[in-house]
Amino acid sequence: NHKPKIVVLGAGYAGMITTRRLVKKLGPEEAEITLVNKHNYHHITTWLHEVAAGTMSQNQARIMISDIISEKRVSLVYDTVQKVNKEEKQVILDNGVLEYDYLVFALGFEKATFGIPGLDEHSFSISSIDSSREIYHHIEYQFATYRSENENSGKLNIIVGGSGFTGIEFLGELADSIPKLCKKFDIDRRKVRIINVEMAPTILPGFDEELIDYTKNNLKIRGIEFLTNTKIEECSSDGIKIAGNQEIKAGTIVWTGGVQGSSVLTASNFNVFKGKVNVNDDLRMPEDENIFVLGDCAWVTNKELNKPYPPTAQIATQEAETCAENLKFLIRGETRLKEFNFSDKGVVVSLGGGDACGTIFSNTKLYGKTARAMKNVIDNRYLLMLGGPALVLKKGKFTMF
Ligand code: FAD
Ligand code: NAD
Repeated sequence: NHKPKIVVLGAGYAGMITTRRLVKKLGPEEAEITLVNKHNYHHITTWLHEVAAGTMSQNQARIMISDIISEKRVSLVYDTVQKVNKEEKQVILDNGVLEYDYLVFALGFEKATFGIPGLDEHSFSISSIDSSREIYHHIEYQFATYRSENENSGKLNIIVGGSGFTGIEFLGELADSIPKLCKKFDIDRRKVRIINVEMAPTILPGFDEELIDYTKNNLKIRGIEFLTNTKIEECSSDGIKIAGNQEIKAGTIVWTGGVQGSSVLTASNFNVFKGKVNVNDDLRMPEDENIFVLGDCAWVTNKELNKPYPPTAQIATQEAETCAENLKFLIRGETRLKEFNFSDKGVVVSLGGGDACGTIFSNTKLYGKTARAMKNVIDNRYLLMLGGPALVLKKGKFTMF
């Protein structure tokens, strides 16, 4: 009478929601559930740019996993996954080995630097609580140690590489926090340059043109400089190089130029395409039907456009619902699994300063305070899903009109 073992790797959007749903759907006698995560907290990735700019405290952006998931039903293991050995059905951790019957692989994203020299060593990335708070502390240190004799060193300059949604949301927060830091350290705001470098002809490539204009104007007025059509070709400790060997000096370089799936995928010898697993319609790995791959580690095809959906928290949480349902079917011996269908709720980009813009319900455009209020609704809805009304009251965002 073997009780099946379900092991969930990663307590991000996909891993947390899968685990919460499994606890609801399955009785304690039906399966043993284990959740593995590097830290004892779940971080709200979609708020990390605020931690990085110093506009949100790190504690606001994290939630203790044991506050959300009952240890009576789920074994919580705080350790780092090194690799999965699918032949033996084992997960190799830094400090042990776990056996599984069904695995949910949801270890999320890492920064992708595309082999650009110096980027790995000399740029920061917004990918975890640790990496985000490091950015703010680094910027603060540059300001605290600035002396006027260093006027041409570029020490106060901040380069943000890439203007996808992460770069833009981070710039919006910097536009709020840098004037405050200038005040704190008696520095003239005009001495600080915040420069966004984007290789495409426009910021937010592929986004709606009116929303791009709105975003650009908003951020320009608040002191952000944009260099489009400009590729970062090299990075060093004191700046970047762009075409023509031209140098731009900076004391802080934050790379928001791209993400890739967890490197544990390749360490586990999984069949990956461009760093992620192309999953079946039921979210399982084609080569091993006991493994589900979710969130930023999986490619799910948008069949209408015949290209993969972009990696978002929105799709990761929806995948988690389908995955938990399919695990219930498997545990109960049903062979027909549910097909994953993404329901796109739109995109809202926060711009800091109580402003935002975006599109919802296919093509309704929102701007300003209305968009900001909608962004709060989206954030609070996730908290409600995760931990009910108590979590919304504790961590939620509310708009003051
Ligand atoms: P993650 O959220 O990355 O979680 C992975 C988890 O696994 C983490 O807890 C991590 O600590 C853990 N982990 C990783 N490696 C290991 C290991 N080896 N061992 C043990 N544990 C490990 N998407 C939206 O839909 N809307 C937004 O507004 C939005 N804003 C964003 C803002 C920012 C600044 C960023 C960076 C991204 C944003 N995204 C947004 C994208 C979204 O955050 C990701 O798509 C989402 O986090 C993916 O969820 P996930 O569950 O796959 O992984
Ligand atoms: P991204 O891949 O979307 O954007 C990276 C940007 O960097 C691109 O515009 C690219 O042209 C540019 N770039 C790449 N190499 C460069 C180089 N060498 N020099 C200059 N520019 C370069 O990455 P992201 O912004 O981190 O977003 C990751 C995922 O997270 C996306 O799927 C996004 O939709 C999602 N996200 C969503 C939200 C939201 O919904 N509000 C917010 C943040 C992130």
